[in-house]
Amino acid sequence: MYAESSHYYQAQRKKDRIRGYLKKVVWVVTVICIIIVCMAAAVQTKASQVVAAEAEAAQDVTAGTESVGDGDADAENAGDGDTDTENAGDGDADAENAGDEDTDAEDTGEEAAAEGGVIVLDPGHGGRDGGCVCGGVLEKDINLKIAQRTALILQEQGYQVVLTREGDEWIDKAERVESANERKAAVYVSIHQNSCELADVSGIETWYGENDLTESSQKLAQLIEKAVVRATDANERELVADDELCVVNRSRMPSCLIETGFLSNKEERKKLCSDEYQEKIASGIAQGIAAYLNL
Ligand SMILES: [Zn+2]
Repeated sequence: MYAESSHYYQAQRKKDRIRGYLKKVVWVVTVICIIIVCMAAAVQTKASQVVAAEAEAAQDVTAGTESVGDGDADAENAGDGDTDTENAGDGDADAENAGDEDTDAEDTGEEAAAEGGVIVLDPGHGGRDGGCVCGGVLEKDINLKIAQRTALILQEQGYQVVLTREGDEWIDKAERVESANERKAAVYVSIHQNSCELADVSGIETWYGENDLTESSQKLAQLIEKAVVRATDANERELVADDELCVVNRSRMPSCLIETGFLSNKEERKKLCSDEYQEKIASGIAQGIAAYLNL
């Protein structure tokens, strides 16, 4: 009995030992599993942070170029929700910006880029290319003045505007359009003056390209032409579709080219040189663009 009993207790102790050992193993395995799960979660979080940071960096590169020299527009955009169509109804983005003062200027630029909010105005010709020259007036000069006036009006309304040239410089047409493409501009409007052998021809003509954006470009051209005619009382000439127009055909956004008058017409040339008339044209172009962007 003793022997049996002793044997029984030995077996019992062995079982207890094994049970205790198994408990330890289960406990260790559980701890290891928890550690593995935590590490996996941490790695995943880190990975998503890296992806987010990379995406942000990529946006910075795009937005960075837009923000250059455009501090006024950015300042206007901040807290100007009612006139800024880009930001309208964009509560999330605004909420993100609140409390993120360091990067506010960048964020506004990013938003504009992300939503394609930049308006690109192209004062035709420049530098060695004067455009048409009539009665000592160079087309490139009138184009620049009208574009600058248009930009001011739009900026006052809270839009972000970029000119393809700020002064009297020559820049290749394709390069101008390409930079608008890179900026992911909302619209591209090229401003030119016309000339004709028939001295009495006058008025406004707008051109748009024929491509996969034809419909929106036509709409933009229509709205601008109508608004400029209304503002100036000038003769309304045709709206022309042209599939070989470089300025508007390389663009990846709705675009058009407006010929705001004939320098070959003495009377119209005189008007085109006056501040008052240039301002009327500019307000018409601005109205047309704003009308298109608010469609
Ligand atoms: Zn021209």
